Amino acid sequence: MSETISRTCGCCGTAFHQTVPDKSSEKPGFFYDLDNRPPEPARSELYRQIFRCPECGFCMGPKDRKAAREFVDSEAYKSCEGNDLPEGVGADYYRVGMAAEQDNDIQTALAAVIRAAWFFDDTDDDANAVKCRGKYIELFKKLRGNDSGALVVAADVYRRCGRYGEVAESLKNRWFPDRLTRQIIEYEAQLADADDRAAHSLKDCFDVIDGDK
Ligand SMILES: [Zn+2]
Repeated sequence: MSETISRTCGCCGTAFHQTVPDKSSEKPGFFYDLDNRPPEPARSELYRQIFRCPECGFCMGPKDRKAAREFVDSEAYKSCEGNDLPEGVGADYYRVGMAAEQDNDIQTALAAVIRAAWFFDDTDDDANAVKCRGKYIELFKKLRGNDSGALVVAADVYRRCGRYGEVAESLKNRWFPDRLTRQIIEYEAQLADADDRAAHSLKDCFDVIDGDK
């Protein structure tokens, strides 16, 4: 089953229709992953929210965005900044991130490149997932202000890239007022100490906490 959605390209102005998969029919879950990836049915939404203009190749997420033709035609855009990601949902999300970054919309850029990483997780393409997480870190460093939610995700992103030392470094001298965040951070540090690069959910975190009682 699928659904057809109409969009207008923010680069060349072409109106187009795109077929997207139907909403997941799985029962709603409770536990997010440590990098904030939601459970079903929202988990599969990343496959419904990515659009590519058939005319010029500009990629858009659910929100409209404008871009110049030179940007979309550039080698950097086509090659995902030299990362040469295989064409598809992952590369297109990476490009959504590039366009948002160019507009200085870092929050949207972060949301887009982490979705690119999730796509490569789903396709067991670790090398390209690591490239997308590397981009997440690069963008995260551009964030202004004290965003503890983004910091918690960043700690997970470092770990999922195998950059274990940087997990501790990113959290040094940080204190989180709420207990849940402190527990997640502590669990994240334990995983990094164990050289564990796998995806983990909040359920795994709670199981460890409950086991310690
Ligand atoms: Zn277009």
